[in-house]
This record gives sequence, structure tokens and C-alpha cells, in this order.
Amino acid sequence: MDEYLARLRAGTLKLYALEQELSPGEAVWLRRRYIEEETGVSLEKVGSYTIGVDRVVKKNCENMIGCVQVPVGVAGPLAVKGEYAKGSFWLPLATTEGALVASVNRGASAITRAGGAEVRVLHDGITRAPAFAADSVVHAKNVAGWVESHRAEIAAAAESTTSHGKLTDVVTTITGTTVFVRMEFDSKDAMGMNMVTIGGQKAAELIAKETGARLVTLSGNMCTDKKPAAVNLIRGRGRSVVAGVHLNHDQIRDILKTDARTLVEVNTRKNLVGSATAVSLGFNAHVANVIAAAYIACGQDPAHVVEGSMAITTMDPTEHGVYAAVTLRDLPLGTVGGGTGVETQAECLKLLGVAGSGDPPGYNARKFAEIVAAGVLAGEISLVGAQAAQHLARAHQQLGR
Ligand code: NAP
Repeated sequence: MDEYLARLRAGTLKLYALEQELSPGEAVWLRRRYIEEETGVSLEKVGSYTIGVDRVVKKNCENMIGCVQVPVGVAGPLAVKGEYAKGSFWLPLATTEGALVASVNRGASAITRAGGAEVRVLHDGITRAPAFAADSVVHAKNVAGWVESHRAEIAAAAESTTSHGKLTDVVTTITGTTVFVRMEFDSKDAMGMNMVTIGGQKAAELIAKETGARLVTLSGNMCTDKKPAAVNLIRGRGRSVVAGVHLNHDQIRDILKTDARTLVEVNTRKNLVGSATAVSLGFNAHVANVIAAAYIACGQDPAHVVEGSMAITTMDPTEHGVYAAVTLRDLPLGTVGGGTGVETQAECLKLLGVAGSGDPPGYNARKFAEIVAAGVLAGEISLVGAQAAQHLARAHQQLGR
């Protein structure tokens, strides 16, 4: 190994190229040792991990030096009455935010005592939107017209690269001489961003060839990937899911230590009026918290939390208490591909009974989306409840510091 270290120091061997000459395990070890030497910082704990790195260094992380560990807790049992997820679940949440798991756990307890969260997947479609440059606004309209009248050919091109993905929609938008073509795919159990990027490239090349428009970029930001965007809220992106539960007066009093009227008022003035006043795209209490923790535990792309956080929490007063619901129009997630195969994350998916391909394909991802939505609802009920009972600061004082 000394010879490799000497070459790294001399610059004749690139740090990122170690895997070309060494096994993945050796490469990670040597890279870490080199960085320790260069910086004088011990990375002993970063170097202590249980996951296999052979696939990870190829698919998930370049220039790998080790792993950071994030504590995982469970919230549950969480009763879910979905079309795909039916039964009781232990939701794994990876977080260092004290009080988060306890809060979701309390919401899960309220939901379970109320008979379970009703959950439905409303829409399913991950998107990629290339941007094309036209010569004039007239040419731009002609490009959009060609796209709209040649959907079958565009679908055939896009689907030529995947045995699972299906093009389900194409929407064009013109701004000046720029034409955006937002292609939506049913990605089955995959979150699908690699799938739609590869398929989208073929479709974009066809559009450019047939229309004379210049393909400027495969990702024209009308997708919209990893940015908060109204287009995703209006049209949906990834899985669009809604979860709701009837809470009666006894459950609100016993578990949330508040009453229906106060709960509804806090939700309205905070999540609806407050968010509108702030011109927020998230009309909720802390949806990002639950999505981030569930995504990290289950091998999802954590950057998609920015999209998932644009959720709307509603609480309707009812004769018997409150009907609480959360609507997530933009929840990109999957149970195959990406980080789902990393052993620790795969175990968390197995805990939910959703690891790998579903039968039929797509079933597992929809089941997972339903469970995440129920967990998000638990988090919303608990935090709005805590604020209604004026318990927020006390809980954080006891659990978070
Ligand atoms: P992926 O790792 O590329 O794997 C998805 C592939 O798994 C599918 O294309 C499909 O292959 C195969 N597959 C096997 N069983 C399947 C099933 N039951 N349902 C669906 N597909 C199945 O993952 P991805 O979901 O497309 O992309 C996720 C990754 O994209 C994440 O790592 C994320 O960080 C990254 N990402 C990429 C971009 C980008 O612009 N490229 C942007 C954001 C995030 P076939 O297609 O051959 O059938």
C-alpha cells in the first residue's frame, strides 16, 4: 500500500482512480488513510461500517472514504388502510433530531387507536423536461404542435431504453423561443430519475431531429427535480398521495392533550393562514422532518425532501372530533435502484415489506408511498397537537437537548 500512497502524494495516481487498481474495500481504506495523512484528522469511526462497498463504489458514491452513521428509530405500530399497504407497520426513521421519533410515535399511536390512516395514491409519474431552442415564436408553436401530435413515436423512443418505464404524459410549455417538453413516466418500483433521464434523452433527440429545434438541455427545470416548484404541486410528481384519519374527542384529549376546536384553529392559523402569509409552498407543520428521516433510513435520494415538503395539512371539524389529512402531491420514491440496495437501507425497506420489485411491478413503491404518507400524517397530528397544547418547547427541552 505504501507504493500507492507514494503515487497519490506524487500526483501520478488520482484519488478517484484507486478502484481501477485495487479492490473496492482496499481502495476505500487507502483513500481514507491518504486523507487522514493529508489532514491530520483521524477517520477511525468513518472507517468502521457494516455495508458492502463493492456495488456502492460503482453505483452510489465516488471517492468513498467510509460511512457516517445515522441513528435509526421506529415509530409504530402504525395502522395503515391503503390500497397497497394494509396492516400495521414499524416505520424506520433515521435522524439525529431529538424528539422527532417520539413525536411521530405519538401520532402513530393516535392514528392506530383511531383505527388506522386511510391512504390513497392519487397519481403516479416521475418527470423529465428537456428545453429546446426554436428560431422564433412561430417555430416554437410548431415544435409544440409536432410533439402533441406524435406522442406514440415519442413514447416508443423513450421506452426503447427501459423494460419497466412507460411514458404516460407529455406536456409542452412555450416561453419566448424556448419549448419545454415535460415527459411523465410510470417508473413502476423505481424512483425513476435515471430511468427517465436515459429514456428522455432518446425522446429529446427524436424531437430535435424531427422539428429542427435545438436541444439545449435534457433538464430544463420544468421537470422540476429537487427544487420547490408550483408545477409539481399542480401536476404532481413522483407519487401523489393523500392520507387521512378521523380522530374522536377522546383520542384528541387522551393522546394529544388538547381539544378538537384548538387543533383545528392551530392548523388553520398556522399551516394555512401562516403559510399563505409567508408565501410558503409548504402548508404543513414539519412534513420535511418525517420524509427526510424515512428517506435516509430507506435508501431514498434525500434531495427529494425539498419536493416532498410541499405538502398541505388540513383538519376538518366533524361531529365526533376532527378529520386530519395530509396531501403530498410530489413524493418521489422507489424500492429498487438508487440507494435501496445498500444493505442497511434494504433492511429498513424489508421491515416495511417493500424491498425490491413488487408483484406486479409498481406495487411495492405504491405501498411504500402509502406508508410514508401515513407516517407524515402521524408527524403532522403530533406536532399540531403539541402546539395546540402549548407543549412544543417542553418536549424539545426534555427530548432534544
Ligand atoms: P436506477 O438505479 O437507475 O434503477 C432503476 C432501474 O431498475 C430501472 O430503470 C429498471 O431497469 C430496473 N428495475 C428492476 N426492477 C424494477 C421494477 N420493479 N420497477 C422499476 N424498475 C425496475 O434508479 P432510478 O430509480 O432510475 O434512479 C434513482 C437514482 O437516480 C438515485 O440514485 C438518484 O439519486 C438518482 N438521480 C438521478 C438523476 C438524473 O438526472 N439522472 C436525478 C436525480 C436523482 P430498466 O429500465 O432496464 O427496466
